[in-house]
Amino acid sequence: MKVSMIGTGYVGLVSGTCFAEIGHDVTCIDIDEKKIQMLKDGKSPIYEPGLNELLERNIKANRLQFQTHYDSVKTADAIFLGVGTPSDNTGRADLRYLKSAAEFVAKNLKNHSVVVIKSTVPVGTHKVIETIIRSHTPHEFFLVNNPEFLKEGSAVEDFMRPDRVIIGHNNAKAFQMMEELYAPLVRQGNPILSMSNLSAEMSKYAANCFLATKISFINEMAKLCDLTGADITEVRKGISTDKRIGPHFLYPGPGYGGSCFPKDVKALIHTANDVGLNLKIINATEEVNEEQKHYMFTKIKTHFSKDPNFSFEGKIFTFWGVAFKANTDDVRETSAITLAKELLSRGAKIQIYDPEASHNFLRLMNDEHALKEGISIIVNKYDALNNSHGLITMTEWREFTSPDFSEIKNRLREPVIFDGRNLYDTQKVLSFGFHYYAIGKFIPMSHS
Ligand code: NAD
Repeated sequence: MKVSMIGTGYVGLVSGTCFAEIGHDVTCIDIDEKKIQMLKDGKSPIYEPGLNELLERNIKANRLQFQTHYDSVKTADAIFLGVGTPSDNTGRADLRYLKSAAEFVAKNLKNHSVVVIKSTVPVGTHKVIETIIRSHTPHEFFLVNNPEFLKEGSAVEDFMRPDRVIIGHNNAKAFQMMEELYAPLVRQGNPILSMSNLSAEMSKYAANCFLATKISFINEMAKLCDLTGADITEVRKGISTDKRIGPHFLYPGPGYGGSCFPKDVKALIHTANDVGLNLKIINATEEVNEEQKHYMFTKIKTHFSKDPNFSFEGKIFTFWGVAFKANTDDVRETSAITLAKELLSRGAKIQIYDPEASHNFLRLMNDEHALKEGISIIVNKYDALNNSHGLITMTEWREFTSPDFSEIKNRLREPVIFDGRNLYDTQKVLSFGFHYYAIGKFIPMSHS
């Protein structure tokens, strides 16, 4: 099948490349010329495990092309809209990229093609997009919603082995075409779900908001553990072995970030407000998360405030990890931003080490927060500890999980670890003579 993928971000690039891998003839289109040039040169503009190999293979096999123009739409059977839908300044989903892409698509559309909204869009958006396309083409077309559920960090794997594929449509022929497109990915019996466009749009937000709620829930439990002496690691095991609860998305941390949960939670709150409903649980999910993003700083401040003469001015702190999660270079809405701002605004400096995301983080701090002074990128995780007053783990990269604690202690000025991801065994860390702080873990020292 001939596929055009509009937008080559985390979703568009992975989806387009995977569709090529299963035999479709794919052209990925983006207005970002630099990105497209990189891709034409066979280089991925993003870090995603397994993506480079797939890119290379499918470009070589001539199944995957990259363009800045929309010519391929003229012959495409299915055109996917995978552009960004970020928050606007009110928190609503900003549909301007989607609307603009829809207009370009409409002007190149052939008769009876399927236009697929893959971006996450508020319930009802397909009607807006349909109207835009209809006003720019005389041709018949089918509009489908096919929300994407891949996770950054395991995007290729998730796309290739989806739990389910959701197809929102109002036309049997369009559904059949989508079934054919996805057929190689559902051989294990994972379902393709047929539903209305409205339900498909809604399903994506319901899924993300539920997952965000699980994270806020466990973060609140962790805080309560901190105040009572229970240990969230034990509590987590205690509840996640209950099949009704399950183990996923129940890891406490410094607050969720990324390009999806924060914006989707906000957007759903707005959607509900617009129809007169106050989503109490989802509002609380967001409120808890906003607080959680400051929790690491509270712990750092409490530790150092034991010395009444302590000042953050000129002190250096080390961040291991700045990506919003492991295995990605994405730093959008990462909780490392909040912590960095808290420290920098008090005159501290930070040394960051992240295997993939350091440069994106520095760029984001500079572009969006006008803050760059005081942040240094260090290319070796142990060198990042030199002259530092404390190690702070912000991302659960595997390479941080079994470090050489003697080396850490030798490099730090003060033997203190603030573990934002609960990576370490408490007894082991304490046996090296560190002060140790985590999220909801029982630490004998802090209770003595
Ligand atoms: P992104 O910001 O990484 O990429 C969007 C791309 O679209 C950019 O490269 C941009 O240049 C391009 N673009 C914008 N306007 C265009 C136009 N008119 N024509 C062609 N290209 C254009 O976004 P993303 O993270 O891939 O997210 C895309 C959508 O998928 C969003 O709605 C998001 O909510 C949803 N989603 C994202 C994830 C994720 O993990 N990132 C997962 C599931 C769903």
